[in-house]
Amino acid sequence: MTDRFFPNIMPDYVSEAQPSVNDPPEQPPQQPTPESQKEKPTSGDPLVNLLSMPYSSLSQRFQRAALDLKETIVMDTWGTTGQSVRDFTLYSGTLGTAFLLFRVYEVTGNKTDLLLCLEIVKACDSASSTSRDVTFLGGRGGVCALGAVAAKYADDESLRTYYLNQFEEVKLSSDHSDEFLYGRSGFLWACSFINKHIGDGTIPKTMIRAVADEIIKNGRAMAKEGGPPLMFEWYGERYWGAAHGLAGIMHGLMDVELTPDEISDVKGTLYYMIKNRFPSGNYPASEEDRVRDVLVHWCHGAPGIALTFIKAAKVNTAVSLCQVFGDTDFLEAAMDAAELIWNRGLLKRVGMCHGISGNAYVFLSLYRMTGNHRFIYRGKAFACFLLDRAHKLISAGEMQGGDSPHSLFEGIGGMAYLHLDMIDPLKSRFPGYELD
Ligand SMILES: [Zn+2]
Repeated sequence: MTDRFFPNIMPDYVSEAQPSVNDPPEQPPQQPTPESQKEKPTSGDPLVNLLSMPYSSLSQRFQRAALDLKETIVMDTWGTTGQSVRDFTLYSGTLGTAFLLFRVYEVTGNKTDLLLCLEIVKACDSASSTSRDVTFLGGRGGVCALGAVAAKYADDESLRTYYLNQFEEVKLSSDHSDEFLYGRSGFLWACSFINKHIGDGTIPKTMIRAVADEIIKNGRAMAKEGGPPLMFEWYGERYWGAAHGLAGIMHGLMDVELTPDEISDVKGTLYYMIKNRFPSGNYPASEEDRVRDVLVHWCHGAPGIALTFIKAAKVNTAVSLCQVFGDTDFLEAAMDAAELIWNRGLLKRVGMCHGISGNAYVFLSLYRMTGNHRFIYRGKAFACFLLDRAHKLISAGEMQGGDSPHSLFEGIGGMAYLHLDMIDPLKSRFPGYELD
């Protein structure tokens, strides 16, 4: 199945040069080499030059690339569309541009980007006014949550109140699923995003608790003898991954104050996945498909599941829960997944959901958690691969630009976001999934 990913021929490690007055000279652009002729790049190769650059210089390269991409994305999703919104979502639509601008504001402090973010959110608000979708990534929850948080940083209290009131109007019904992209756990994430940025209790615990109660009730009802303590279904399939399955739902639940028996069920569900993973360290897409070891994506497979394990490992260290989440198995499973992602995760796509950008975040997250430089090297290597080659490979038709080519989750928006996060990797967070 090598047609899904590029064989990773990047060196296992490249030392960074010491910063000097003169940065390494820029290399002339290189045409992509046919797969058959590829060998491990060596010194003199533009990619190896990037990897050996002092981080202070490389960080500036990432910043320039991110800001250039941002201009292109804003122009193509907003400037040239007459500022009309066809797809309002953060996942594949215009709200993704607003979220990218919000991240640019966080990194650079440039208020122009914050104000443009708010302008785009306003258009997404109008475009989504009758939508019944509720989540951060795929629904009105994201529009109202980002609106409220951006308004807070813009010191616009009445706008913040407006979006918070709108958020309260977002209604979950019994028809909604529990998964992350369209269901309850993705709505919980929107609540957590608001509470993190605006303050604990902005979305009251009682409201969050009611949603978590429903998820736990549904998960226990679907559980079967010999399976995990919690199980869920989306369109007839019992998925495992971050987008539609167990990993995403456990991820949303871990931000909620759970009772000891609920913690035990969440842990038991995560352990079930570790115990039943493929020998490669990858994970099945669903209970119905326990045979094909193919997908290494955030949506399906090891990357999204590893980010959930890293969160569980962090929950281990939280004072209030240390007695019950006190083991290292989750971190070890995430590190096994990182090994697999290094070998099979250099996907022929750019975005967050099923692309190189999203997969890089497992390394960044492990680096933040462990401080191990091997992980930052690997995250940097994926980001440098994109920096050096993505445009050429996309133009040559060797890499897919995505179904929504400028979007955050399927297109170059994800690459722009990763480049921004590479400026200071200790502050990186997978957009819409990692909070702390
Ligand atoms: Zn995907």
